[in-house]
Amino acid sequence: MSEAIKKLVALQRVDDELARARVELAELPGLREAAEARRAESLEALEEARDAVRAHELEQRTFESGLSDAEERKRHLEGQSSQVKSNEAYTALLQEIEDAQRSIGEMEDKILEAMDVLEAAREALAVSEQRAAEAGASADGELARLAGRQAELDKDVERLVGARDVAAEALDPEVRRRYFKVVEKRRPALAVVTKEVCTGCRVGIPPQDFVDLLSAEDIVQCRTCKRILVHADGLAGEG
Ligand SMILES: [Zn+2]
Repeated sequence: MSEAIKKLVALQRVDDELARARVELAELPGLREAAEARRAESLEALEEARDAVRAHELEQRTFESGLSDAEERKRHLEGQSSQVKSNEAYTALLQEIEDAQRSIGEMEDKILEAMDVLEAAREALAVSEQRAAEAGASADGELARLAGRQAELDKDVERLVGARDVAAEALDPEVRRRYFKVVEKRRPALAVVTKEVCTGCRVGIPPQDFVDLLSAEDIVQCRTCKRILVHADGLAGEG
């Protein structure tokens, strides 16, 4: 393998690593948002569960107060029975007492139903509390992990930019220019040639280009994908 290709391979290694680190860095804000969104979602569900319990508690208190009103009314009507003068008035009073008794029965039924509903809402609230606690802990863990990764990647990028500059500086300016021109459009910028085919784009290499590639005097680019070609034999042992 020619010196130029060796240097290009070295540049590509560090440059691709740098590109990967930058891609990962760019993904971090989205991952942070997703972790926060999962936390917010669980808190929203918790708030809804709390609202449901409050609503059912209020409903139960309304029925209890309705029961106590009906009981009070019944006691009041019963207290009037000794003062009733006529049969008609007495029949009417009995009817009113019966109505009050029916209201009492209805309220008692509603209270029992509301207790069941309230019980279910409290159980759902307990589940939501558990889930919110888990989601919160998981979000905290994820955010801490992402912060750690961010710090690592920032350091990697700093190191790799330096290493890439050194590797690029070692190249002939024209070769360097051609590498960076290719890498703007596609990675990796180098493509191995096996069986006279560019493995970057799977298109065959014209015979003259293949001869040039074997002579390794100048760098040869694929006519189709523009990648800089490296002969497979030349790459053996270079990693
Ligand atoms: Zn190609």
